[in-house]
Amino acid sequence: MTEATSQPSLAIHNLQLSFGAVQVLEDVNMQIMPGEFVVLLGGSGSGKSTILNCIAGLLDISDGQIFINGRNVTWEEPKDRGIGMVFQSYALYPQMSVRGNLAFGLKNARLPRQEIASRIARAAEILQIGDYLDRKPAALSGGQRQRVAIGRALVRDVDVFLFDEPLSNLDAKLRAELRVEIKRLHETLGNTMVYVTHDQIEAMTLADRIALLRNGVIQQFASPDEIYRKPVNLYVAGFIGSPS
Ligand code: ADP
Ligand code: MG
Repeated sequence: MTEATSQPSLAIHNLQLSFGAVQVLEDVNMQIMPGEFVVLLGGSGSGKSTILNCIAGLLDISDGQIFINGRNVTWEEPKDRGIGMVFQSYALYPQMSVRGNLAFGLKNARLPRQEIASRIARAAEILQIGDYLDRKPAALSGGQRQRVAIGRALVRDVDVFLFDEPLSNLDAKLRAELRVEIKRLHETLGNTMVYVTHDQIEAMTLADRIALLRNGVIQQFASPDEIYRKPVNLYVAGFIGSPS
């Protein structure tokens, strides 16, 4: 293996985080390789969003370090980290068209107009949102809005995508459909993706590796096959539904 491929895309060392007196993350360690699709899986309150928000730089961590492509980003601004985040609620600007939403961050970054247009065209093709670029978010379905939200991360050309339960507001049919789209997106782009969900089916279908969390502690970090066949404890077996 060459040095370039052996360097993790994302590395988390001894991450600790407290909200006031309550320690939510005690000692989280993860190494995620370039192009890997990692799912953070766990029940409500297990710390999934907190870990993602630490990676994104949206929370001040209590202790530990975060590296992206070997660069220590622990104290970098979110916008400088080379990450794009997609949230559960779409967080689109309601007064702007889809095109405006996609262009917003790029205009702020002072990209040339031609470059902005070509990135939007590419994202529109990949995500199949070209037909409604001139509509406002209110005129879109939930599934369409979530495609636009993914598009906003896509146009920024980031190294690492972070998804926080992006499908949990959608009905079952759309969820299944967009799950396939996200998998296709990953195959097309080959980015590193960290995807949070409480849904073990979603985790099993999407992940190269699953990190199963309980009370802010990673119980097991392994491939879907391994975690299913060789759960390290009863909690993991129960959560994944392994045969006993
Ligand atoms: P998950 O995303 O897995 O549902 P979270 O990461 O949101 O879990 O939350 C982990 C724990 O941290 C929970 O116990 C939650 O109540 C607590 N928590 C999350 N955000 C805050 C906050 N801003 N202030 C205090 N406690 C919080
Ligand atoms: Mg959450």
